[in-house]
Amino acid sequence: MKKYTYTFLAVAVMVLLAACTTNRVTSATGIKSPKNIILLIGDGMGLTQVSTTYYYKEGESTFSRFKHIGLHQNQPTSHKVTDSASGATAFSAGVKTYNGAIGVDQDTTPVRTILEMLAAKGFRTGLVATSSIVHATPASFYAHTASRNSYEEIARQLVYAPVNFFAGGGTKFFAGRSDKINYLDTLQQRGFQVSTESLPKTSLNPEENHAYLLASDGMPKMQEGRGDFLPKATDLALDYLSKDKDGFFLMVEGSQIDWGGHANDADYVIQETLDFDQTLEVALDFAAKDKNTLVIVTADHETGGLSLSASTVYGQGDYSKITPSFSTGNHSAALIPVFAYGPGAEHFMGIYQNNEIFDKMVKAMKLSRR
Ligand code: MG
Ligand code: ZN
Repeated sequence: MKKYTYTFLAVAVMVLLAACTTNRVTSATGIKSPKNIILLIGDGMGLTQVSTTYYYKEGESTFSRFKHIGLHQNQPTSHKVTDSASGATAFSAGVKTYNGAIGVDQDTTPVRTILEMLAAKGFRTGLVATSSIVHATPASFYAHTASRNSYEEIARQLVYAPVNFFAGGGTKFFAGRSDKINYLDTLQQRGFQVSTESLPKTSLNPEENHAYLLASDGMPKMQEGRGDFLPKATDLALDYLSKDKDGFFLMVEGSQIDWGGHANDADYVIQETLDFDQTLEVALDFAAKDKNTLVIVTADHETGGLSLSASTVYGQGDYSKITPSFSTGNHSAALIPVFAYGPGAEHFMGIYQNNEIFDKMVKAMKLSRR
């Protein structure tokens, strides 16, 4: 009996040693690189906006599912506080640039974006936003213009960009333009199924490209009954994009968290953040099943200087109730949280500059920078 125990122990030690050796080999060859990237941007979503999912959501915040968390600093070259154009261009192209810049550096020279790099390698690409699809955040992934306000030019560039799927608002920038060109027709000529009505009930033909432009400019607010557009469009995009064997890049933006902040409307911010939280669930469920997808969640900047304060009643602190309040109608300079999940998530821990998010995506995908 004793002899048997020793034999068993010896075998157990050998198995453990073998396991340790295998681990060492794995770490020596580096972290496994993902096949797909989903980048979700909550425009104007600072830590306080994220915190609202812990106080105003029934059930657990989806943010609790992340284990790899970092912070980024987002100062642009032109100012102390960033706008969404330079903020998104830092993510998409890895450069610090000026406020208003779309996919260009501070000298207005176009810079190659992660979407363009991956598309050139055969990846399928998609964009989903609750603003118009030519608004600063999505535009920074496919367009190159000196000014974020060149909406018609940005729409023209989208038609010729390597994007296979997009959903959001913005029909007026494609049809009814000042140059009288109807780019909805051009999209169809370029192999797009175009819909200005609604998202489809069935999955999409992988042989075609798909455009959903469901509002003249921005999509309606959650408060106006936008419903499940953002999670549903994300689900639709993931189903379609994942049919490509080469991998995909999807950018999803909860655009209006920012707009609620500018309006100093706490209910607007909270509803848009909860909708974004629902969308994270779609992305994380996909990634958990797929096991080959890197999910990154962050914001370009915080908007409104939102705080979740204890109330003050007759000069006394009332700790029984949270009262959201704002310190500005503009953006703030606070550090911004980054949440990552899946292969390559380790890269996103620590405190770094916003443009390093691009570097980390490039590193995770083992791409050469240019
Ligand atoms: Mg935006
Ligand atoms: Zn803003």
